[in-house]
Amino acid sequence: MNSTLAVIGVSSCLLGLPVRYDGKHKRHEIVLNLLNEKFNYQAFCPETEIGLGVPREPIHLLMTKSGLRCVGTQTSTLDVTEPLTEIASQQTWLESLSGYIFKARSPSCGIHNVPVVSGNRANKSGQGLFAAQIRKRYPNLPVSDEQQLENLEFRRRFITQVEAYHQRHF
Ligand code: SF4
Repeated sequence: MNSTLAVIGVSSCLLGLPVRYDGKHKRHEIVLNLLNEKFNYQAFCPETEIGLGVPREPIHLLMTKSGLRCVGTQTSTLDVTEPLTEIASQQTWLESLSGYIFKARSPSCGIHNVPVVSGNRANKSGQGLFAAQIRKRYPNLPVSDEQQLENLEFRRRFITQVEAYHQRHF
């Protein structure tokens, strides 16, 4: 690891780690190339970190009478709302980050347009519970997902923002 480079948090499945609910990964070449060329990185999977196994029942965001919950798609009593919300506060390594690349559309990691089930419909209006905590705790931290990074202009802007954040804070 080159200690002069900015450190970026990244959803583990984007790096090719088989941590998804189906035992697979979502290796993303653009993310990997960006990290290899420019940054050091810290991989993290909030779902396995809170003790969900691989494979596991998928979870989703569900609007209930008592508010937004994150529950199993088949087992509504599998409710991981609290652990997924609280796991960020236990990660001291977050203090060393200058950016974060999240997996799009995940109920844990998505930063926007995450489906929220309400009745028998789903609106793409949510944020993953872990990602939401990171953004709340570090409102100026540059964040992106792998879909946004496919756009060259966005990617350049993200790199500039991360480098600027790194210079300001470290
Ligand atoms: S919780 Fe995040 S890192 Fe883990 S498999 Fe889902 S999207 Fe990937």
